Amino acid sequence: HQSKLSNVGNSIFSVMSTLANTHNAMNLAQGFPDFKSDQKLIDAVSNAMNSGYNQYAPMQGHLGLRHAISKKYELLYNSSYNPENEITVTAGATQAIFTIISAFIRPNDEVIIFKPAYDCYQPAIELNGGKSIAIQLKAPNYTIDWNTVAQSINSNTKMIIVNTPHNPSGTVLSKADMLKLQELTNETDIVVLSDEVYEHIIFDGEQHQSVCRFKNLKERSFITASFGKTFHNTGWKIGYSCAPKTLMDIFRSVHQFNVFSVHHPSQKGLSDYMEEPNHYLNLPEFYQEKRNLFLELIKDSRFKFTPSKGTYFQVLDYSGITLEHDVDFAKRLTIEHGIASIPLSVFNDNNLDEHVLRFCFAKTNDTLKKAAELLNSI
Ligand code: PMP
Ligand code: GLN
Repeated sequence: HQSKLSNVGNSIFSVMSTLANTHNAMNLAQGFPDFKSDQKLIDAVSNAMNSGYNQYAPMQGHLGLRHAISKKYELLYNSSYNPENEITVTAGATQAIFTIISAFIRPNDEVIIFKPAYDCYQPAIELNGGKSIAIQLKAPNYTIDWNTVAQSINSNTKMIIVNTPHNPSGTVLSKADMLKLQELTNETDIVVLSDEVYEHIIFDGEQHQSVCRFKNLKERSFITASFGKTFHNTGWKIGYSCAPKTLMDIFRSVHQFNVFSVHHPSQKGLSDYMEEPNHYLNLPEFYQEKRNLFLELIKDSRFKFTPSKGTYFQVLDYSGITLEHDVDFAKRLTIEHGIASIPLSVFNDNNLDEHVLRFCFAKTNDTLKKAAELLNSI
């Protein structure tokens, strides 16, 4: 037998993490914190287990958590999502994304994606018979040329996927970008999937431009989010999706058979923990300090960079060191220098290699100092 997915090997995250482990290298490749989640959150989940939240959660998610999510959208974006029928808790953002694509994409539907793109979009499109239309963004600014987007839209265009703050580049979409997206999709049947898993990790006083800030855009959009990024527990795999009721009804028609519901005690714990908004409001400052520390420490290295504007990733241009292929260089850095990263070409259209690597700075200051020492010696 053959997989229905063509030409995919193991995900780059597994490849680089395995290589890092085998060679005992620092792992700044796969995006995950090397520090603990807040003890209060761990206690909240443990209390939930002890007090009986151990059977199936409702299909839509724990109601208290849906209320907490709804309150967050009111507070941050002055935008209302009804917890009853416009928010669904998922097994991470990955499952939300897979469910949205499965619920809407039919054979030959076209989905516009921007490359470099997070790796789970394209396989989900392909599995559902859809066709991804990739628009390549170029280093170092990764800006979207909306004329190209306009030219790519036709009667087969069913969905556009955007991601801000952007993994892997660390760039963010501006208000002008979102207005353009709104203008181009107005009065069409296009569904927008807005992957906002890094909404709380945004720097230098920038505002996160959620689709829900734009009235007409919100009407056609799904937001996907992930608690793993926000509360430092990527292994819990809890996230959610928000959308207007008509779209969310369609989402749930698939979600109920895809996973039905997700880990109940975590949902109850997260719901209690989110009563204190500072738990997410402090995140930009927390990660901005880490970005600044990391960049200050490597400013005299041979890597070139534009500071990340959001996410916990920093891309570094190594063309001043070598012009070897980024996958080869990332492997060599891991094996010979003891530091793992992610080569950007794997996220690019036709594996375009721009000599750029992605490093995750969701690490203790100690880890960042050790990583910087290694990078400075290259
Ligand atoms: N989208 C993006 C842009 C991501 O970076 C990630 C996680 N790396 C996800 C989706 C998936 O999130 P989760 O781990 O909650 O499934
Ligand atoms: N989202 C994480 C990253 O970009 C990894 C997730 C995964 O391992 N699939 O590094």
